[in-house]
Parts: sequence; structure tokens; C-alpha cells
Amino acid sequence: SPAGGFWVVLEDVSELRRLQRIRSEFIDNLSHELRTPLTNVRLLTETLSREIEAVAVPDGVRDRVAKIDVETGHLVQMVTELLDLSRIEAGGSQLYLDVVDLGEVVRASSDRLRLFAERQGVRLEAQVPEGLPVVRGDGERLGQVLINLVHNAVKFSAAGQAVVVRASAGEGEIVVSVADRGPGVSRADQARILERFFKVDRARVRGQGGTGLGLAIARHIVEGHGGRIWVESEEGEGSTFSFAIPIADVA
Ligand code: ADP
Repeated sequence: SPAGGFWVVLEDVSELRRLQRIRSEFIDNLSHELRTPLTNVRLLTETLSREIEAVAVPDGVRDRVAKIDVETGHLVQMVTELLDLSRIEAGGSQLYLDVVDLGEVVRASSDRLRLFAERQGVRLEAQVPEGLPVVRGDGERLGQVLINLVHNAVKFSAAGQAVVVRASAGEGEIVVSVADRGPGVSRADQARILERFFKVDRARVRGQGGTGLGLAIARHIVEGHGGRIWVESEEGEGSTFSFAIPIADVA
């Protein structure tokens, strides 16, 4: 009977919900458990690389320590993205609105990732004009967007390349962009890249792991601010990821 059919559909949905809940609890627990040991490994690696700077060690050793440091940085970023996702899924992704100087957010997140970039031979440049208007937003979340974009830009850059982060005033909005000279994103992938779990064919982007979540999280945050996010890219030439946040009218 049609009623029976309907009943079966409902059953399916509740089973699906149950599985989704189990999955997100699992991700949440796992990422919490991973965070502490990872943070310790990262601190130990940082200490180690400072210590070997002061003594004579073979170059190979120094390089390997730098690589461990960089890989640990990727792991920390992935775990952070998983935690962000489970927070967003749990509905705890409210924005705490305040007056935010995006120029300051650009400087702060560039400073945070500069050492990480240098370890990969990538120069990280922040270009922020004086007296940029403020926006209304959640400074911490907007910082997270920048960390995700800059982390990607550095990850996809080769040694010797530069990543440039800019903030500028557009019409009624502040535009922030992160430009790299990496492999770029094909036109077909550009349309999908901001979707969750989307990763470009690994074969073309050699061994660059990730969760495929960073951009989806960035988009969620930017759109939550009434802003927009987009990518411009030419394959083989690099990518520019930008987002715009409306300017606050503070009297
Ligand atoms: P991931 O954790 O896999 O980097 P993201 O959501 O941050 O997840 O990015 C999704 C995909 O978009 C990446 O796997 C990569 O293929 C592509 N991508 C992101 N940023 C860049 C970039 N700066 N240059 C080239 N490809 C990029």
C-alpha cells in the first residue's frame, strides 16, 4: 500500500540520521584525541629545529627536521578543519559579531604562517593599505578563513615562489585575496572546489593530501557574514582566492 511505502522511507531517513550522528561524533572525538599528541609533536619539532640551529649538524638532518615540521603543520591544519566541521555540523557555528579590522586579520594570519612558509622556501607577503574601513564580523572566524586560504596557497607553492595576501577597499566591501604561483585550478574544478570534500584529482597535484574541507568551511563562514568567496585561476600560472565582506556602517 502507499502508506507502507511511506513508512519505509521514514525508516530510511532516521537510519541515515543516526549514521550521520555517529559519524560526526566519531569525527569530533577522533579529532579531539588527535589534537593533544599532535600539538606536542609540533612543539617538540619546533624546539628541535631551534636546537639544531645552534650546533653543527649535517644539512640532511636539518632538512629532514624542517620537513617533519612542515608535515606536522599540515596534520595540525587537517585536524583543525575536522574540528571546525564538527562544530559547524553541531550547529555551534554562531558568529560573534564585533567590529573587525580585516587588515589586522590579514597581518596576524600571515605572521602566524610565515615560519611555516619559510620552511618550504615560500615567501609570504602581506599588503595592507593604511586606514582600511572596518567590517562587522567574527574576527576569529575570519582569521580561520585566511589561515585556510594561506595554508593552501603555501602548500601548493614550490620553493622560491611567493604568496601575496592583500586587503583592499572595494565598493561597500573589503576584498581580501590570497595569490599564489602554484599549479592553479582548471576551469571545470573551479566551479566545484568550494564544495565540501572536493579534492582535485591527486595525480595532477602531486601528493598534496588534505581533507577537502578547508574551502567549504571558508565559504560557510564568509557567506555567514553576508559576503562572497571566489577563485580566479589559470592552470600552470597560479590561483587567487578572494573573499569580500560588507563594510560596517559605524557612525
Ligand atoms: P584540502 O584540505 O584538500 O586542501 P580544501 O577544501 O582546502 O581541501 O581544497 C580543496 C581542493 O582545492 C584541494 O584539494 C586542491 O585540489 C584545491 N586547491 C585549494 N587551494 C589551492 C591552491 N591554492 N592551488 C591549487 N589548488 C588548490
